[in-house]
Amino acid sequence: MNGDSGIPNPRRSPSSQILDTGNEYLAVTKGPDQQTTISRYSPGPEYVPTATAGLVDLQVNGFAGIDFNNGNLSANDMDHALGAMLATGVTTCLPTIITASEHCLRERLMALDQAVTASELGPRMVPGYHLEGPFLNPKPGYAGCHPPQEMVLPSVELLRRLEQDLARPILYLTLAPELDRAPEIIHWAASQHKIVGAGHSAVTQKSLSEAIAAGLSVATHLGNGVAQVLPKFDNPVQWQLAEDRVTGCFIADGVHIPAPILKSLIRAKGINRSVLVTDAMAAAAAPAGTYSLAGMAVESNDAGVVNLKDSPLLAGSALTMGKAVANITRWGIADFRSALRMACANPLGLLAPVLKAHDITINLGELEWGHDGQPLKTSLGYPLPPGL
Ligand SMILES: [Zn+2]
Repeated sequence: MNGDSGIPNPRRSPSSQILDTGNEYLAVTKGPDQQTTISRYSPGPEYVPTATAGLVDLQVNGFAGIDFNNGNLSANDMDHALGAMLATGVTTCLPTIITASEHCLRERLMALDQAVTASELGPRMVPGYHLEGPFLNPKPGYAGCHPPQEMVLPSVELLRRLEQDLARPILYLTLAPELDRAPEIIHWAASQHKIVGAGHSAVTQKSLSEAIAAGLSVATHLGNGVAQVLPKFDNPVQWQLAEDRVTGCFIADGVHIPAPILKSLIRAKGINRSVLVTDAMAAAAAPAGTYSLAGMAVESNDAGVVNLKDSPLLAGSALTMGKAVANITRWGIADFRSALRMACANPLGLLAPVLKAHDITINLGELEWGHDGQPLKTSLGYPLPPGL
């Protein structure tokens, strides 16, 4: 990719920085009192593109050799993983914990929470967590790499116990809406200001409608976590794709979804209702090899494919957000600003109301892109007012 890619040339102004989120321009100004103000900016004809805002990853299980689903996670581990994520353009993320027994989930959430709190980058990059499971569909094809024997029916009480004593909230819950009592927990989670997404699910048109009425708004890694062979129309991917009240999250690594199919899915869902996630695990930003995901042995190869050891099942990805944005433009799915919108403005749009309700401030980072279309330099620094 060259300078004609449409990627803004970083150019700094001493007093004000214009950051592109893919949806709007934000003017960040530092006053003489060193107070930072952020306002929406309408570019005039004299506008010179500067840097973009940092990327937001709503689903990441681990990074750079570190498994977030590790009951012994330390603050150093967290800084190592988050530092590596920052280098790939991410300034805000939701570390993701996958299905396990209540005891393990509790242990892993507590370890993660303590590591985030005690780390240097955690308090600036991690506003809360994504819990993917254990209320998922255990049937083959839907369970994916999650252990089906640990999946349970939705329980508000269990969710409350898991979240107890955490310094940061679970901000995103992925579940299978077709399970008994799912509307009840969706309603409760939405009332607690959590994003609720459908995933690892054989959701029907009826159960999807009921879930949306209860507060569900997202399709987690749409196109994945479903059986390989499905009826051509009456299937969970089609229902979620067709539903305008649901934002679709997509893993743009070319492995989870072939690039031409990803183009069809994103075009059907529309740029404004699409979000890029990595679903990365420890193998991301790390050499090919054997890694751990929630106690399971996982192998990654040079092609970026991550499988459960000795199994064809995918087990997360080795994708980075910067690469996801680059892939979208490289594959001709959308232009750079639209790809940026799906990696920045759209996930921020999902997060903004829940962060505001929890009174959590996040950092709006600054990202300079290289001429190869990959992130060149990312920095943290601007606290983003809740709800902006
Ligand atoms: Zn999943």
